[in-house]
Amino acid sequence: MSHLEDSSVPAIRRRMVGQGFNGDGRYVLYWMTAFRRTRFNFALQRAVELANRLSKPLLVLEALRCDYRWASVRHHQFIIEGMAANAVALEASRAGWLTFLEPRPGCGRGLLAQLAKSACAIVADEAPVFFLARMVEATYERHGLAMELVDSNGLLPLRAASKVFSRAYDLRRFLHKNLAAHLVEMPHPDPLDDLQVPSSETLSAESLRLGESHLEGVCSLAALRNPAALASSVPVNASCGAGVVAGGAFAARRLLDDFVSGRLDRYVVERNNLDRRQTSEISPHLHYGHISVHEVLAAIADREKWSPLHIAPGGKGQRLGWWGMNEACETFLDQLVTWRELGFNMAWQNPDYACYSTLPAWAQQTMADHQNDERETLYSLSELDEARTGDELWNAAQRELRRDGRIHNYLRMLWGKKILEWSPTPQVAAEVMIELNNRYALDGRDPNSYSGIYWCLGRYDRAWGPERPIFGKIRYMSSANTRRKLRVGGYLARYSETAQRGANL
Ligand SMILES: Cc1cc2nc3c(=O)[nH]c(=O)nc-3n(C[C@H](O)[C@H](O)[C@H](O)COP(=O)(O)OP(=O)(O)OC[C@H]3O[C@@H](n4cnc5c(N)ncnc54)[C@H](O)[C@@H]3O)c2cc1C
Repeated sequence: MSHLEDSSVPAIRRRMVGQGFNGDGRYVLYWMTAFRRTRFNFALQRAVELANRLSKPLLVLEALRCDYRWASVRHHQFIIEGMAANAVALEASRAGWLTFLEPRPGCGRGLLAQLAKSACAIVADEAPVFFLARMVEATYERHGLAMELVDSNGLLPLRAASKVFSRAYDLRRFLHKNLAAHLVEMPHPDPLDDLQVPSSETLSAESLRLGESHLEGVCSLAALRNPAALASSVPVNASCGAGVVAGGAFAARRLLDDFVSGRLDRYVVERNNLDRRQTSEISPHLHYGHISVHEVLAAIADREKWSPLHIAPGGKGQRLGWWGMNEACETFLDQLVTWRELGFNMAWQNPDYACYSTLPAWAQQTMADHQNDERETLYSLSELDEARTGDELWNAAQRELRRDGRIHNYLRMLWGKKILEWSPTPQVAAEVMIELNNRYALDGRDPNSYSGIYWCLGRYDRAWGPERPIFGKIRYMSSANTRRKLRVGGYLARYSETAQRGANL
């Protein structure tokens, strides 16, 4: 079916698995797993395009398992808030939608295969991290399905580079040469507006011939209006309650608008202010795909009246002066694009991205050289988890993570460095960081989780002197220096043990 191959979604972002579409079937199915949004989503755009070409209705499936690692009320509620926002947007469109919340482990098994039986084409998200990539792969292999996988992860398509960038500088150089060409291929802001096929009223849960265990997990709009109740109705870790950030595309857009119209101007001077949040706070929404990095860039471009034509030609990897924007915007974009996409590059290129063995050789060597250094203080995972160390500032950061589901970026670096100092080996330090970060942080389990955690152990960094016990040549950070550098009084009061007890009442 060659007329289906031509697409408004760049070929570099699409990959066909299986035999190709035969066009027989009742609907085009979009299986939304990573880009959980209806705007600026290349995968949805492709599904809409296929539905129009085949003159078939579009069905969007957004499902949530309950047996993934670190599943908790916190993560579930955030995701369900996103599902609710998507259901509202889909309900107002011509697309059909099916939101499935697995009520018990295993109940969702076979759902995709069942829906695939009546689908004439299937589009799915291509994401390089956590269990998503494996789940999508296992599904099409096990059921012999044909699917088109679409990459809507970043500004730079995953396949644009064929190597791992081991320094931010190297990726910047690559971006300076190659990114502009990809920026002219933005996803449509509202792909659902382009859907021309008749409305999908015929795609009710009953008409999809779902079995009983599948029907049990189907959510109505009314049920989705109470994400907290839904999240606590499933068997996931309830001791990790909701975080402070609301999930979903509407919440993400509000955060983005507030940031772009206000805090962005003060990003350079105030981003380390612990008392007033000055960063975008958008990482959980980026992680769950509730907002796209393309939409963030579009909002900034709109404000700055910027287009890719403003890019300074011949950039050589410098941090500032390439985008052709002011310093605040360029500093922010360096985080949003260079640092964020470094993680995606690593996760895409190297399936072992979460392993200690992927640290640079110099970092592994220097930590091995200091393996037998005396460790004055060692803390167990549970002591760290419960913020029971002798370091007041570290404890406050850990309480912020546990209670709110986030840590201020500067303290997050200190948090990781201290775990290295207090662990019997650097490998244990990595495991502890991964466990606590991914259990509690709303943006955890992301490529950036591993960038940040392994940055504390030398990834993307260089050797530093003087050589110190335990750390060797790994960049050192201490709470005493952090206290000198940042105003920590208000933060310590907010996340003191007493404040924590109050929050638990
Ligand atoms: C030990 C440790 C663990 C980390 N774990 C995570 C994690 O689980 N998930 C996560 O998204 N980030 C993680 N980071 C990176 C960083 O802390 C967060 O991305 C940032 O604090 C999110 O806040 P924000 O959205 O307000 O960022 P902003 O400053 O507003 O930046 C905008 C976006 O740029 C990206 N970004 C910013 N800083 C970094 C960075 N240092 N590395 C990579 N991308 C960055 C994020 O997508 C962020 O949302 C970790 C860092 C460390 C040191």
